[in-house]
Amino acid sequence: MISFTFDDFPHSALVRGGAALAEHGLAATYYTAFGLAGHTIETGRMFDPADIARLVRSGHELGCHTYDHCPAWETPATEYLASVRRNAAALSAELGDGATFASHSYPISYPRPAAKRRLARIFRGCRFGGQTSNIGTVDLNCIASFFLEQCGEDLGAIERLVGEITEHGGWLIFSTHDVDVRPTRYGCTPAFFESVVGCAVRSGVPILPVGRALADLGAGR
Ligand SMILES: [Zn+2]
Repeated sequence: MISFTFDDFPHSALVRGGAALAEHGLAATYYTAFGLAGHTIETGRMFDPADIARLVRSGHELGCHTYDHCPAWETPATEYLASVRRNAAALSAELGDGATFASHSYPISYPRPAAKRRLARIFRGCRFGGQTSNIGTVDLNCIASFFLEQCGEDLGAIERLVGEITEHGGWLIFSTHDVDVRPTRYGCTPAFFESVVGCAVRSGVPILPVGRALADLGAGR
């Protein structure tokens, strides 16, 4: 499987990234930190509250990224979990009581074991970075992903990763932040993003948002 994910998330991730996926009838997972709504941070201008309903209407999926964008390693587990609960409350306030996040992604740094253990009871799976794909046994509380901005827009690196899971099976998750003609150093250009989507589509590998992929695998909860 292949998944596309955006962290924080910048407004451009929905407008440019989401549009590139929608052209192929595909959906992404947006790891949302509700506390960032309306702000501009290192990863660009963030989503507006109105983007949340728009995102869901377009068939995309929401994931949790803590309310306060807590650095995962530096934040004590109790504080981290409180921010996860606050994010869930903000989601309910926006979309109603039935709305839940199926998966989680850790902001900034490596997760603490105590937080991983507790998040396992809340989410089907939690995504991290690691610049690799998931082949063989997978830690569902630390699923690997490949941040597009860290490969210098090298499509060859993407083709090698996609080729690897096409051949051996596995789950390749792409992550990034903004998708803009002048991206921040945490994002990529629309042209590169479209090339990555094209490469994934040509592989014939199923492309699913993370929560749906986890549900299909029967993983978690
Ligand atoms: Zn983040």
